[in-house]
Amino acid sequence: MARISPLAFAGAALLGGLWLAERARPLRRQTHGTATRQLRNLALGAGTMLVVSAIEMPVLKVLARSNATARRGLVQAVPLPRPLQIALGVAAMDYAYYWWHIATHKVPFLWRFHRVHHIDPDMDMTTALRFHAVDMLVSLPFRVAQVTLAGADPAILMAHRRFFDASVLFHHSNLRLPGRWDERLSLIFTTPEMHGVHHSKLREEMDSNWTSGLSLWDRLHRTLRRRPQANIDIGVADAASLADLALGNSLTAPFRALPQPLPPDSVSLR
Ligand SMILES: [Zn+2]
Repeated sequence: MARISPLAFAGAALLGGLWLAERARPLRRQTHGTATRQLRNLALGAGTMLVVSAIEMPVLKVLARSNATARRGLVQAVPLPRPLQIALGVAAMDYAYYWWHIATHKVPFLWRFHRVHHIDPDMDMTTALRFHAVDMLVSLPFRVAQVTLAGADPAILMAHRRFFDASVLFHHSNLRLPGRWDERLSLIFTTPEMHGVHHSKLREEMDSNWTSGLSLWDRLHRTLRRRPQANIDIGVADAASLADLALGNSLTAPFRALPQPLPPDSVSLR
């Protein structure tokens, strides 16, 4: 019988546990047809995963191996015990993602692709998969720069990948943590409440909580914002965001002109 690695088992347990938990303790009321929305997100996620596993990760693994042999990048230049070296590498890559995420909102060409992720009118674990496959190619030069500057070797690259995947699934989930645990956890990590604010249609709320891992970066740059979740209007306030939800439209949207933004008073303050 095939052996299941402890890491794969932990990953499957996290996925299953989170899937059950966000149903048992919803954070925000879902407003759109859940099954259709989730199926679309899963379909987009399948395309994304294909590009990541066939192109992005093989390229980055070659780069990470050459970082280690050429002793290139931040981590390779700092003599540290191995666990601290791995933690520093993961943190450096996480910080680079903070800036890249801002760029995906502020540079119109990058927003065309990132918008496909944000038009989801509800959030749950499947929103974490809702990315355009071509987005993974568009972000590849950034990923190459990120891995090179951080000096990530293969172990650091994989440690970051696991941290990033777990974090992205967790903070997109519709899970209401008990008591004040969301606030407490947000002292270190990105939480569902934090990231819910980033998915708000309101510009000043969308322009906050950029981090995808450690909350430190938003604290450092004073971009961390918390607010109650019950009346957040999730999505993008533009003329085509709902029409672009359909799978075919989501795939072609980045190659059409960006839709006109709707006036701020169109955002419902449910
Ligand atoms: Zn975003």
